[in-house]
Amino acid sequence: MRDPFGREITYLRMSVTDRCDLRCVYCMAEEMTFLPKAELLTLEELERVAAAFIRLGVRKIRLTGGEPLVRRNVMSLVNALGSRLGPGGLAELTLTTNGTQLARHAEALFAAGVRRINVSLDTLDPDRFAAITRWGKLDKTLEGIFAAKAAGLAIKINTVALKGTNEDEFDRLIAWCGEHGFDLCLIETMPMGEIDQDRTDQYLPLSIVRARLSRTWTLEDTDYRTGGPARYVVVKETGRRLGFITPMTHNFCESCNRVRLTCTGTLYMCLGQDDAADLRAPLRASRDDAMLEAAIREAISRKPRGHDFVIDRRRNRPAVARHMSVTGG
Ligand code: SAM
Ligand code: SF4
Repeated sequence: MRDPFGREITYLRMSVTDRCDLRCVYCMAEEMTFLPKAELLTLEELERVAAAFIRLGVRKIRLTGGEPLVRRNVMSLVNALGSRLGPGGLAELTLTTNGTQLARHAEALFAAGVRRINVSLDTLDPDRFAAITRWGKLDKTLEGIFAAKAAGLAIKINTVALKGTNEDEFDRLIAWCGEHGFDLCLIETMPMGEIDQDRTDQYLPLSIVRARLSRTWTLEDTDYRTGGPARYVVVKETGRRLGFITPMTHNFCESCNRVRLTCTGTLYMCLGQDDAADLRAPLRASRDDAMLEAAIREAISRKPRGHDFVIDRRRNRPAVARHMSVTGG
């Protein structure tokens, strides 16, 4: 599948639930109204949509959310998708998680064919962790991370850079990741959804962070790319990769190879735009997948060139009204 700008769409991110057991301050308001369960695609329907995308050329699927591991029976979907790994099918099945449920699921994820996961962790300080996630306990996430490592999963830690909150901790996180063999990716906050706080107070440009880090660490350029928005360096002292996701300071849209499905079957062609396609209606309209595939192709033909994220004091409104937990980032 090629979009109008010649980009080949090979990567599908699927949000399997909008719910979460945490309430990270940059992601959600404390009081959230979640979708009624009846609105959600069933796990079988999610698998059917995934299968259609694979037939149309998708080679990588990432499960996300909300918190993907809080969806009941999510492992049945992971197993079903895992069975599609291999030539002509998926090259990679992975997920992004907050780690709280990983201790329970790590071995089963590996057994299903998952080899790499992203775990979100913004701080190594228990009090800060509680403040950022509102409801979380650092120990539980760390237990999950180490269970995943023990199960053989490669781990990338995702850290949202928050001004005045964790900006003094990046050195420690780099050293900690180096010690345990994890890659690290720093993310700029993106203006998505109402969150009870002022985003201009949270926003920290990674260009500044990178300049600061390069005083302590030797950051070596690498051409390692995942087709995604992260730009990587290798930290010479630890040998691990460090990524920067900078939607605000640098635009990453030219090489975008992905689309995002919500748990209700809405396909977003861009994280930062509102245009979307409903796949649930064609999915449910017939048992045959012809209408579904046609709807997917039509949606890809509308993929926009890029996003219009802006965070400034004049426009202190989210660039898109939906929260990151709807599309999973
Ligand atoms: N619950 C899982 C987790 O936290 O990893 C998966 C979903 S979460 C929405 C995916 C990623 O988006 C996390 O790394 C999170 O830190 C990030 N995120 C959430 N809201 C964000 C925002 N407004 N700006 C930048 N990153 C955000
Ligand atoms: Fe939940 Fe992930 Fe959002 Fe945090 S970032 S509230 S863990 S969905």
